[in-house]
Amino acid sequence: MKHIKKMIFSFAILTLVLALSSTALARAEAPEPGPDPFPYPAHERSEFIAEEPGPDPFQCEDQPYIEALLNEFLQEAIRDYDVVRIPGPMLNEMMRIGEIVEIPFINLLEEREMYMGVAQPYTARDESVETAVVKMGGQEYFEEPLPQINAYTIGCQDPRDGCGVITFLNEENTQYEGMVSDPLIGFAAIESVSSLLKNLTGEDFAIDPNCSIIYNGNAVAAIDFSEENDPTDNVFYEMGRHAEMHEAELMHNETSDSDETKEGSMLTKTINIVLDSDGTFYGSDKNTVWGRQHSVLHNVNLIYHWIEPATGGQFDIDFKIVGMESWLPNSGPTNTDSDKLTNEVNGTSYYMKRHPAKNEVSFFYVGYDLAGGIAGQAGGICNLPGYDDTYGSNQTHQKNHAIGQQVADASGYQFATLYGRSAVMAHEIAHMLGGTHGSGQKNACAGGVWPNVCGTTLMLSGAAGGVDPDYRQSFFSDANDKQIKKCVSEAK
Ligand SMILES: [Zn+2]
Repeated sequence: MKHIKKMIFSFAILTLVLALSSTALARAEAPEPGPDPFPYPAHERSEFIAEEPGPDPFQCEDQPYIEALLNEFLQEAIRDYDVVRIPGPMLNEMMRIGEIVEIPFINLLEEREMYMGVAQPYTARDESVETAVVKMGGQEYFEEPLPQINAYTIGCQDPRDGCGVITFLNEENTQYEGMVSDPLIGFAAIESVSSLLKNLTGEDFAIDPNCSIIYNGNAVAAIDFSEENDPTDNVFYEMGRHAEMHEAELMHNETSDSDETKEGSMLTKTINIVLDSDGTFYGSDKNTVWGRQHSVLHNVNLIYHWIEPATGGQFDIDFKIVGMESWLPNSGPTNTDSDKLTNEVNGTSYYMKRHPAKNEVSFFYVGYDLAGGIAGQAGGICNLPGYDDTYGSNQTHQKNHAIGQQVADASGYQFATLYGRSAVMAHEIAHMLGGTHGSGQKNACAGGVWPNVCGTTLMLSGAAGGVDPDYRQSFFSDANDKQIKKCVSEAK
């Protein structure tokens, strides 16, 4: 299915360009499977297209300046990336009317590849949540109406073809970010350069607002992890080798006794989540604060609600936003010690208008740098001794709040990127649902309909002996799948 995307690469560009003048025309031109227009074998064809001369239709204004800024502030965080210009309002309009949209991403070969799919409106927010709670200190707060936050899934109908989520951060739709997870592209991101630079530096830059950075999760630098720097550690070699292993496992399972079937049944669950953030996160840009809260959670749902059912197949967890809160600048938590901050937001005296109740969780977006290279922390670990009340107990205030840093890190780790922010949030929430580092894996395969997607799972330790929070794939090891399923299914 997927190689078709490559064949229509030039059409894809054409479609986007035409869409600028007429979305109706673009719809008529949307590529359909049909007679092959290219008289070349596929492998020669892609070379032919790659060498085709002509201006890049995705060129950003002042692109050299933008690239210089990214090089300066990203440093080595993303080994390979590209910048592309896709006007946000146009993209939103195409998605709103249900076009087949094509968005460039960087694939596992570190080449630009169009990701294509039908867009469908999406939000994880419960319709009962119409206002956000802005906390002013003590127990004082005001409520503000939530802006229209446009978000869409792309693809996602047939998991073989991958799934993506794009969230617009502001009402003008000029800033957007999103991720796809796909058997050939891998786990890849697109994000507004201006909002990324804001997360990296705290500053606003006068640059083309329609310019976005695209990069692949496998091009995010691993930090202080020597094996990852081994040039023979080739992703395709790894994929092939472990895919074979996984296939052998699957065949074994098919022929084993019927207990496997029971274990293999999927748990479907909606878990309520209350989103929360500190004053610096709010003050960074109050026009995008609720969009930024939505966006990272949408990527977490991409992992728990779309990818897991298609791959590990142990659970389908859909996080539903039942509350949105934030502290105003100069109020609320300011602890840079992650232990203290985690304790503070999990404490009985911590103020929330809408506390997460039993069987619910909360996530606290941190808009400043936590000390010691810490990306995030969970209030507890379900089912581990000492943490048994984390999820699903009868206590009013459980240890069910996790925190995650959203901005640049003085220790050089990359939490500011969408990739880092999403991986960290997915990781910390998984702790509260029973996932553990010890059950993480460096060489695991996603399984299911993606047997060739292999790599480091989300739960491997970010501390010494593990990997940094980036450079990991969007799935859990089989062991963590089972732990999470156990915790959630036993919660009462
Ligand atoms: Zn962890």
